[in-house]
Amino acid sequence: MRDFSQDHHWLSINTATVRKQWPLERIIDECARRGIRAISPWRDQVAALGLAQTARRLRDTGLELSGYCRGGFFPAADAAGRQAALLDNRRAIDEAKTLGAPCLVLVVGSLPGALAGKPDYTDIGRARSEVRDGIAATLAYARSVDLPLAIEPLHPMQAAERACINTLEQALDLCDELDPLDGQQALASGRTPPCLLGVALDIYHVWWDPKLQQQIARAGGHPTRNRLLAYHVCDWLTPTRDLLSDRGMMGDGVVELRKIRRWIEQAGYAGYAEVEIFSDTNWWLRPGEEVLDTCIERHRSIV
Ligand code: ZN
Repeated sequence: MRDFSQDHHWLSINTATVRKQWPLERIIDECARRGIRAISPWRDQVAALGLAQTARRLRDTGLELSGYCRGGFFPAADAAGRQAALLDNRRAIDEAKTLGAPCLVLVVGSLPGALAGKPDYTDIGRARSEVRDGIAATLAYARSVDLPLAIEPLHPMQAAERACINTLEQALDLCDELDPLDGQQALASGRTPPCLLGVALDIYHVWWDPKLQQQIARAGGHPTRNRLLAYHVCDWLTPTRDLLSDRGMMGDGVVELRKIRRWIEQAGYAGYAEVEIFSDTNWWLRPGEEVLDTCIERHRSIV
């Protein structure tokens, strides 16, 4: 297992973590100043700064991306809505390519309209089938530009509004169906092909899952391709007061971070640990400098 205690070489900051304090340009500068090597920005933040300007700032500061947030939200009440979602996902893929992101993170969506409080339908089976079709169509485009898609399973408490893929097993089943890893392909190309469809493992959403260790091993089980494309960390507070924006800083909750990192590294993951904290009543209220400095400290001592 990698030793994180001496430096923060493998720390990435999901820019939502300090989005209430700073615009993206400042986040980039503050991360670069602290020797943080990577971020994962959100589309609205990139749009506010401008795509070309964001790419320039990343180049100037030498920051990499550990992911791009986010695509998905495939289900819709009608065909026109589903088509609009596909076009939007294409745009997200193009932006991710422009910024040099290693993957586009997918929060797949669920009952359309539920997020706004009024679902257009209540058939979650239909939502799952629209998600499957949406990812299949988006994968075809992603393949043409060689940009991996990372499905992020969300905690089941968000199954109505944000994602009807709720466990790592469910995400991997879909990966295996839509992007089968057959050995022939790997041999024929003579090199390790990129895994075009994989998962973003966010411990906030999956820490409780009794099959977590088994499914992490499955994600890394193929000899030439790994489904683990991104790793998001924070902590689960007790009690949790808000379903979306009461995430804890690593070390302040109940998640066994070291244990889970050991599992993902045994499964071949060697990328960034990306800190992603939505925190209405705590971290979003503190100075951004304090938040980033705490992320660095906890990355070394806890992650
Ligand atoms: Zn996440």
